[in-house]
Amino acid sequence: MLVKVTEFFRNLPPKKCAQCGKKIDEQHECYVNKCEDCFQVV
Ligand SMILES: [Zn+2]
Repeated sequence: MLVKVTEFFRNLPPKKCAQCGKKIDEQHECYVNKCEDCFQVV
Protein backbone atom coordinates (compact mmCIF):
# COMPACT_ATOMS: atom_id res chain seq x y z
CA MET A 1 0.00 0.00 0.00
CA LEU A 2 2.90 2.34 0.67
CA VAL A 3 3.94 1.96 -2.94
CA LYS A 4 0.44 2.88 -4.03
CA VAL A 5 0.57 6.09 -2.02
CA THR A 6 3.92 6.98 -3.51
CA GLU A 7 2.62 6.46 -7.01
CA PHE A 8 -0.41 8.58 -6.23
CA PHE A 9 1.71 11.57 -5.30
CA ARG A 10 4.08 11.05 -8.21
CA ASN A 11 1.14 11.02 -10.60
CA LEU A 12 -0.24 14.31 -9.32
CA PRO A 13 -0.20 16.95 -12.02
CA PRO A 14 2.13 19.91 -11.46
CA LYS A 15 0.43 22.82 -9.77
CA LYS A 16 -0.06 25.94 -11.81
CA CYS A 17 -0.34 29.54 -10.77
CA ALA A 18 -3.99 30.58 -10.65
CA GLN A 19 -3.04 33.97 -12.04
CA CYS A 20 -0.47 33.47 -14.79
CA GLY A 21 -0.56 29.68 -15.27
CA LYS A 22 3.12 29.27 -14.48
CA LYS A 23 4.19 25.94 -13.01
CA ILE A 24 4.54 26.20 -9.24
CA ASP A 25 7.48 24.71 -7.41
CA GLU A 26 6.40 21.71 -5.34
CA GLN A 27 8.43 23.03 -2.41
CA HIS A 28 5.88 25.72 -1.72
CA GLU A 29 2.93 25.37 0.62
CA CYS A 30 0.15 23.22 -0.77
CA TYR A 31 -2.53 25.84 -0.30
CA VAL A 32 -0.64 28.51 -2.23
CA ASN A 33 -1.98 28.45 -5.77
CA LYS A 34 0.11 31.31 -7.10
CA CYS A 35 3.70 31.38 -8.27
CA GLU A 36 6.35 33.41 -6.47
CA ASP A 37 6.02 36.34 -8.84
CA CYS A 38 2.26 36.74 -8.52
CA PHE A 39 2.27 35.96 -4.81
CA GLN A 40 4.79 38.69 -4.02
CA VAL A 41 2.96 41.26 -6.11
CA VAL A 42 0.01 41.04 -3.76
ZN1 LIG B 1 1.90 33.58 -11.43
